[in-house]
Amino acid sequence: MAVNKNVRAISLTSHTHSGVKHPVLWGAPNILDRGPIIGTITNPADKNTIGSHAGSYCVYRAMAVAKGDLSPLHKPDLTNTEPVIELGPHPQWSEQDKIVSIDPWGHRVAIDFKDKIQLGMDIRPTIAITKARITIPEIQYAVRQGLIKADGQILLPSGEANVTKIALEPVWHLPGIARRIGVDETTLRKAMFEHTGGMFPELITRPDRSVFLPPIGSTTIYMFGDHTAIQDPSREVACRVHDECNGSDVFGSDICTCRPYLTHGIEVCIRIAQQGGVGIIVYNRKEGRALGEVTKFLVYNARKRQVGGDRASAYFQRTECIAGVEDMRFQPLMPDPLHWLGVTRIDYMASMSNMKFDALTSQGIQIKNRITIPDDMIPEDAKVEIDAKMAAGYFSDGKVVSDENLDKKFGRDLEAY
Ligand SMILES: [Zn+2]
Repeated sequence: MAVNKNVRAISLTSHTHSGVKHPVLWGAPNILDRGPIIGTITNPADKNTIGSHAGSYCVYRAMAVAKGDLSPLHKPDLTNTEPVIELGPHPQWSEQDKIVSIDPWGHRVAIDFKDKIQLGMDIRPTIAITKARITIPEIQYAVRQGLIKADGQILLPSGEANVTKIALEPVWHLPGIARRIGVDETTLRKAMFEHTGGMFPELITRPDRSVFLPPIGSTTIYMFGDHTAIQDPSREVACRVHDECNGSDVFGSDICTCRPYLTHGIEVCIRIAQQGGVGIIVYNRKEGRALGEVTKFLVYNARKRQVGGDRASAYFQRTECIAGVEDMRFQPLMPDPLHWLGVTRIDYMASMSNMKFDALTSQGIQIKNRITIPDDMIPEDAKVEIDAKMAAGYFSDGKVVSDENLDKKFGRDLEAY
């Protein structure tokens, strides 16, 4: 492990007097005062973070270096990679602890640190903003049925939609993360060091480095319509925050409502964008409530094989039996991409989740209307999940689950596939 002998250990919450060569003043009012986030290993003396760029993909990068396919000294050529829209700065970027899990300046790197990069410093963007056209069969169906109308700009007659899409890598300010989830920073650093198998010794040895680039999944934003509507109180904002479910989102697996809810959220976003507002889909790579897909599939089997069959009353228990907890998504971290966009209110929130609602409203984002999934979009095998969630207090727009339905077996038997 490379240790800079000139760096003296200082208290965990202090970074302004850090001994690192390029101190990070998290929450500073502008990017130059804040300073660059440097996760490079091409020049360890410049590095001011724990971990490395690209989230979980840093492991593949290490393999490419090991195999000799990638030079360990490679620096990205950032020519023409700048964002395709002007975004921010917003007041949220410099409010104390408002954004703790992404770098609000992460898309500005190639512009604002141009001089430093030209001098040879390896500073990398952690956010990229581009444009795309997306094709969603459910949206095409809705256009064909006349449920939504093409406008030729946001939604085309073919059912394709134009979007701004934004990729965000995790950049964690450890003191802020600790405060957000209500633990002390030392406890957090120790647990992360130990429970990654000691993957990042600097969590313990470098208390002067407060920024961690964790090897976890990233976030993508798909934005419909004009993003400046976010700051205009006379125009509406629609949103769905969606946590990855590969089985349903991509493959159409029918045990849950994830893809139907996602496509319904997209439809709501398109409608609001067509009315002059903006629609925002935030897609987080937090598979299986961040318990992972293996755990999730184990739970499916346990649910279907348990005595009494797959039913809503035992839905959450089966997860806890296997994973030890029901959920590890840490929704209090979830509002950060919306703070980054400058969102202070959501007129239409396509979600039934109380955890998401509480996370957003407790951090100052007003939610005016919550939208439930239409009944006809719920797959047969997913009724167990929806009833369990409603019984657990998820927003259901007045619908209640009867005791009889809670204990009734709804899910398909394993023999029925
Ligand atoms: Zn799902």
